This record gives sequence, structure tokens and C-alpha cells, in this order.
Amino acid sequence: MSNPEPYRLNSRAVAEATRQWLSKRGVSIQEIAELAYLLQKDYYPELTEEACIEHVEAVLSKREVHNAVLTGIQLDMLAEQRLLLPPLQDMLFHDEPLYGCDEVLALSIVNVYGSIGLTNFGYIDKLKPGVIKRLNEKNGRDVHTFLDDLVGAIAAAAASRIAHRMQADHENGHPE
Ligand SMILES: [Mg+2]
Repeated sequence: MSNPEPYRLNSRAVAEATRQWLSKRGVSIQEIAELAYLLQKDYYPELTEEACIEHVEAVLSKREVHNAVLTGIQLDMLAEQRLLLPPLQDMLFHDEPLYGCDEVLALSIVNVYGSIGLTNFGYIDKLKPGVIKRLNEKNGRDVHTFLDDLVGAIAAAAASRIAHRMQADHENGHPE
């Protein structure tokens, strides 16, 4: 018998799978960009939704983001299929408020862009605007225990990236 192929990370496949799974789970880049826009529009009146899409795309190119999104979506899906062990199964299925690993996993996304992302992440989690509100609606079938935090974290990271970019542009003499 021949040896199995040695494991080798295919970063492009991981990035592509991340985008596909976000889409399959009903979340569009546009919706995440709208959250980033909501977070930063008052600070940067010149900010456009198109620019926010570019920032979200940049966040979605990061390995930490791929890893967190794929892990969280997988756990949501296993909970939907009731394949997790008790008592974790019930906690994830019912989005138990005292279970905080969904937020902790999402923090690995926020951490990439520093502390501005952290405050924005907390703000989104409290306010639950747009797509986050939809993901939080319980219908007894779909589970988005991890996904709502992951999406909020991507938007918060994009908001942080916007702030850093705006400052850099300003210092370089190219205010947008
Ligand atoms: Mg959650």
C-alpha cells in the first residue's frame, strides 16, 4: 500500500471555503460592510459603503479570520444536526447566554486589528444591528451561536482597519 499524501496547508482553498461558507450560511459581504459603515460613518463622513466592502475584503484575506469562521460555522452546523455531545449540544443549540466561547473565538478576528476593533465588537454585540439581529432570531432549526459573533467581529475588524487607514492617509497628506 502506498503512503497517504502528506498533509500540506492550501491557504487559497481555506480562504475560498471561508467565503463560500459565509455565503451558504446566508451572510453577504455587503451586509458585513453595512455594519462597518454604521460603526464608522459618524467619524468619517467621507466614508462610502464601497470603501467598506474593500475593508471587509481585506479582513477576509487574513488566516486568523478563515480559521475562526470555519471553526465556528462547523460547530453551528453540528449543533443544528444534533451531533454534539451533551450538554454542549443543548448549550449551543439554545445559544446559552453563559456560554462565552463564541465571543472568545470571534476575538481572534478582532485582535488582528487592535483595540479599536475590541470596542466596536462590544458595541455591535450590544446593539445587534442589521444582519446580526437576523442571525439572532431563533426559529428552532437554524443555529448561529458562533456566526453572529464572527460576523460582528469581521465588521469590527473592518471598522478598526478603516480608522487606521484614515489616519495613515491623513498623515501622508491624502485625506479622503
Ligand atoms: Mg453568539
